[in-house]
Amino acid sequence: MEIAMGGAALVIKPRKTPVSFRHFDALIRRLEVRHPLVWQVQQDYDNAKAGFAGEESLDFQLSLLRPAEHYILHQVRLQVNEHVFEIDTLIVYSNMIVILEVKNFSGRLDFCDELGQLVQHRSKEEPRALRYPMSQLERQQLLLREWLAKHFPQKIEVHGFVVLVNRASIVQGGDLIDGLVRADKLPFVLNRLALVERKLRLEAVDQKRLAMKIAGACKEPYVDLVEWYAIESEYIRGGVYCSSCKSWHVERLRDRWCCKSCGHVDKDMHKEVLRDYQLLFGNVITCKEACRWLGLKKGTCLKLLKDISEPTSLSRKKVYYSLKSLT
Ligand SMILES: [Zn+2]
Repeated sequence: MEIAMGGAALVIKPRKTPVSFRHFDALIRRLEVRHPLVWQVQQDYDNAKAGFAGEESLDFQLSLLRPAEHYILHQVRLQVNEHVFEIDTLIVYSNMIVILEVKNFSGRLDFCDELGQLVQHRSKEEPRALRYPMSQLERQQLLLREWLAKHFPQKIEVHGFVVLVNRASIVQGGDLIDGLVRADKLPFVLNRLALVERKLRLEAVDQKRLAMKIAGACKEPYVDLVEWYAIESEYIRGGVYCSSCKSWHVERLRDRWCCKSCGHVDKDMHKEVLRDYQLLFGNVITCKEACRWLGLKKGTCLKLLKDISEPTSLSRKKVYYSLKSLT
């Protein structure tokens, strides 16, 4: 279990670059430009990066929370029954748990709580309806309470906030919405709440046990972008690219790769290619597929594959090579 100091609080589960980013990088590098979802994939990735930057920007406000009274967990991903739910940041106090759903929305934001509607207006763009974050938060609270009821004997209060981290955004209709807060106000809101919440106060040892238990139960996300976007494999290009200048003009010499654009020579350029394959299609590859991706004849390809793993036969006809050692 990793524990890091963040401000005065113990960060029991530190924030990491999301696993999906490597998958997006591989997909964007290899998706044919003629595919109709190219723009959508790039936009989803940009949104994910903006969201992550927003979460990172909240660290300053988290450092202003009253010291030494709470544990912080980032990127919490739990399962209760068949439902998996994700929480950007979760704070375990002795008298409550706080869920933070962080939003890095820009532009003018029109909230309508009655309708459960959020409309974003950005210059030079049509207004667009965003997923209503308060409903997302409600679902997380509900599922977390269910999870706690199953895994923790004491009943602890769960509070939740949607935190708007983009200072340049203009919020309309949000002032009366319970649980919606600007990042700069968050420390004051939480410090006050921690003082007044009196229903239950856990012993220090139980508070820590609860935080560790949540961290220990977190599941790694399963990412399969090819399946998610339902992309047919013919739209995904193979090929070796230069590990130095990223050009696709790479040729195979006797025992190494050479970039025709920048002259860079590298013995292991094929490993990056196979890593892309792994991120998009999983942990095993056949020799035929590897030949297609690397643009090599069978003999050379087999030699490179055998350097990476032992062949495994999963059916009578097909022999697979594991790519796990590349991770
Ligand atoms: Zn190059």
